[in-house]
Amino acid sequence: MKILLVDDAHSVVMVMTARLASYGYEIVHASNGHEAVEAFAAQAPDLVLMDIEMPVMNGFEATNQIRALEATKQWAWTPIIFLTSSDTVKNLVTAIEAGGDDFMSKFVPEPVLNAKMKAMSRIAALRQSLSRANQKLQDLANQDGLTGLCNRRSMDLRAEQFWLMAVSQAKPFGLLMLDIDNFKKFNDHYGHQSGDDCLRQVAQAVHSVTQEANAQGLVVGAFAARYGGEEFAVIVPDSSADALQSLAQKIVFTVAALGVPHALNEAWAVVTISVGGALEPVAGGVLSNLFRQADARLYDAKKRGRNRSVTQS
Ligand code: GH3
Ligand code: MG
Ligand code: MG
Ligand code: MG
Repeated sequence: MKILLVDDAHSVVMVMTARLASYGYEIVHASNGHEAVEAFAAQAPDLVLMDIEMPVMNGFEATNQIRALEATKQWAWTPIIFLTSSDTVKNLVTAIEAGGDDFMSKFVPEPVLNAKMKAMSRIAALRQSLSRANQKLQDLANQDGLTGLCNRRSMDLRAEQFWLMAVSQAKPFGLLMLDIDNFKKFNDHYGHQSGDDCLRQVAQAVHSVTQEANAQGLVVGAFAARYGGEEFAVIVPDSSADALQSLAQKIVFTVAALGVPHALNEAWAVVTISVGGALEPVAGGVLSNLFRQADARLYDAKKRGRNRSVTQS
């Protein structure tokens, strides 16, 4: 457990630090409220022991600011115990109202301090496992179970955010819709399990090409998602017509180059995909129109013979 100890009195800091260190805790110091807020943000302690009367900024104000910092994050609540010289009821009430969790005399008997810290480290451990579990749940809720890509729900949310940003900055927003060619025949011929394996491989290829395009600066912030069934989407929040076309072509090429056998896919005999793309360069449009246009061009790519991309009319 990492403890942030905030007190302006050197003697208090010395005594408390010696005791806490002897229990095996890691101690970070601050000598006024302002330093405490900064140390809190930088060190993310598991517990704060906070003096009340201090120069520059007192403990109540520092606690207010720490709670405000935590309000920007989900599930964040670090216990804050006020350290006081007198155990008055008025102090206790003020401390709790200021966002503190408990109240303890600076001259607390050693066994009491030890016991309180044990209770606090139990809470810290619980909070850590809760936050890990919560993160995992959130990841699962945003991920497609089969391919590990963004699922439809999280794609919709992220796309909408990027769309609003692109519109406000008058940046061209691109979208690719991808669909595996003759995939029903693949399933019928090789079985559903092989179909799932194929979907995973195609998803991985689409993801890699997209990440590569980001890394090379061809596009900015692009990400792939499973749109549904054997369809994928690539959201390209900051693109140009040329970059979108080039990315679409790379994806088509890379999937064919995987060489996944597909005896019933036209003359290619390997798994291929078709891609439709659309780019919205002007502010004021609607995102759903972009999806419609990309979908129409995907249909076009299919009609023109599959294993190709169409990103312009
Ligand atoms: P086209 O080239 O015109 O796209 O033809 P297609 O056969 O790929 O298109 P169609 O929409 O007729 O068939 C899509 C198939 O994708 C049907 C369905 O069984 C399969 N599919 C959808 N989701 C999954 C999945 O999660 N796993 C597997 N194995 N197959 C899936
Ligand atoms: Mg003081
Ligand atoms: Mg389809
Ligand atoms: Mg298909």
